[in-house]
Amino acid sequence: MEQTRKCPSCGGTMIFKPGWDSLLCQSCGRKEIIPELVSKIPVEEMDFLTAQNTASHDWGMEAKVVVCKQCGAATIQNKLQLSGLCPFCGSTTVESGDPEQDIMAPNGVIPFKITEERAYYIFKDWIKDRFLAPELLAQNARLNQFYGIYVPMFTFDVLTENRYTGHYTEDSRRTLFKSGKFQYQVDDFPVVASKQLASDKLILSVLKDYRTREAKPYTPEALAGFPCEHYSIGLTDAWNSLGNDLNFHLQQQVNKQGDSRYIMGIEMATDYYNLRYKYLIVPVWINSFFYDNRLYTIVINGQTGKIDGQWPKSFGTFAKKTALFFLGSFGAV
Ligand SMILES: [Zn+2]
Ligand SMILES: [Zn+2]
Repeated sequence: MEQTRKCPSCGGTMIFKPGWDSLLCQSCGRKEIIPELVSKIPVEEMDFLTAQNTASHDWGMEAKVVVCKQCGAATIQNKLQLSGLCPFCGSTTVESGDPEQDIMAPNGVIPFKITEERAYYIFKDWIKDRFLAPELLAQNARLNQFYGIYVPMFTFDVLTENRYTGHYTEDSRRTLFKSGKFQYQVDDFPVVASKQLASDKLILSVLKDYRTREAKPYTPEALAGFPCEHYSIGLTDAWNSLGNDLNFHLQQQVNKQGDSRYIMGIEMATDYYNLRYKYLIVPVWINSFFYDNRLYTIVINGQTGKIDGQWPKSFGTFAKKTALFFLGSFGAV
């Protein structure tokens, strides 16, 4: 089993190079394409019901769970490349997780496309519109640094049989009832398996922005130099958490069935067949900082460059109010 990749030319450490689908030697600059990442092989769809027995636990490296004492985030790191740093809060007080823990390994990976430099420019552009930016940038050295991390995500494929009832209006007066049924194949419906990140709406919107069809078969080489968050939402919980989101998605399909009448007040019953999943790890540039004893997190999608996150708002609200006050007094003159 391979551990860290040593450069064949000089023996230096090779790390994954975002945007290149390659490993790059830190010492001599030698580049090696990672075959899995340039292959046309699709990521395998796994059977949900037999996942207990069929899921892979082979990370292709000596995987170690590291838990942060400050924020509780659990990351999986290559035993030989432990950073000793929590990418979620910057704390250096990390400890080893349960060594006996059997950690399910991913089927697929979306490699980093956005480089660290690019992430920084995206961030610079984004903070232009934030109040407090100059003050915070001066205060927090950490704000100028992004950490690359892979975040766990499950995607689901399932065949659905749907029966629905609803109503529509005719000649904008009469209400008529309608019922029907249709079959619909759900494809790559995503669930972010990180409690840490999925609890924030803004961050979640960034993490739902992946082109999952571009995922590649998992290879530990994509993790050279990048830790991976350990999923805090398991496969079954992820599927169970889908309820409302999936129902909403299926209800939307009612009005895409080629009938010109717009159905409202939809009630629906659904049967599910052939549930399959993929366990993907997806790239994120993460930046977190403390302000007024609160942890703020900003994330950039490592594939598409979409950015969002939390930002201290107190001063912003104050500034807006002041602006309105001045506008108001000029108006009165
Ligand atoms: Zn080298
Ligand atoms: Zn932490």
